[in-house]
Amino acid sequence: MSKLSLDRILQSQGFGTRKYCRELIEDGEVSINGVVHDNYKESIETAGLVLQIFEEDWIVREHVYLCLNKPANFECSRKPSHHPGVLELLPEQFSWRDVQPVGRLDHDTTGMLLMSDDGPFIHAQSSPKRHIPKVYLATTADPVTDALIQELLSGVQLHDEPAPLAAQRCVRMGSHQLQIVLEQGKYHQVKRMLAAAGNHCAALTRTAIGQLQLADLGLAEGEWCYLEPEHLALLV
Ligand code: URA
Repeated sequence: MSKLSLDRILQSQGFGTRKYCRELIEDGEVSINGVVHDNYKESIETAGLVLQIFEEDWIVREHVYLCLNKPANFECSRKPSHHPGVLELLPEQFSWRDVQPVGRLDHDTTGMLLMSDDGPFIHAQSSPKRHIPKVYLATTADPVTDALIQELLSGVQLHDEPAPLAAQRCVRMGSHQLQIVLEQGKYHQVKRMLAAAGNHCAALTRTAIGQLQLADLGLAEGEWCYLEPEHLALLV
């Protein structure tokens, strides 16, 4: 980040038009460390900046890193066709940013979905070279057997893949529940792997990415939160 005029900073955070941001500042609604700053031309270092706007703290962010607990029946696509898009679950304040889902979950898959407006971050997280483990909980139509687990661990051949794909870890969580950890992010991968191994995925949720657990974020379905640097450090 760098130095910017106060009106530009407010605008960059989604507070509205430049004119509206200038009015807020001139009306004395913007403080830093409890001191009102009413000159919108004032140039301020944005790194680590916390403003008080309408007496509430506002952390100035160049980019946003978000986690959404995705509900079923939302599409990750930016141009959804059959269901509403996940971007609709974010508040208005993000609408001016180019926030995108990091990778995709199927419309009927629930759970952990990262979102950001930081292109290099999205690219790095999606890169197959990074082998970031993704943890899923699958509910299966048929019982989870030792043979199924063995097959998923040894690798199953999907029809459009050059080589068999194997789960990194597979743990039986119940008669019809399986935790499956994948390092790749192929299209419908869990569902197709279960089908190739002779079972059927009846429901799917993503519970963790890298070492970051959805359960630790305390999000109900449909809720989102900011990911802070300590969370991002767990995405490995
Ligand atoms: N695998 C799937 O089959 N679907 C998802 O949404 C994610 C992984």
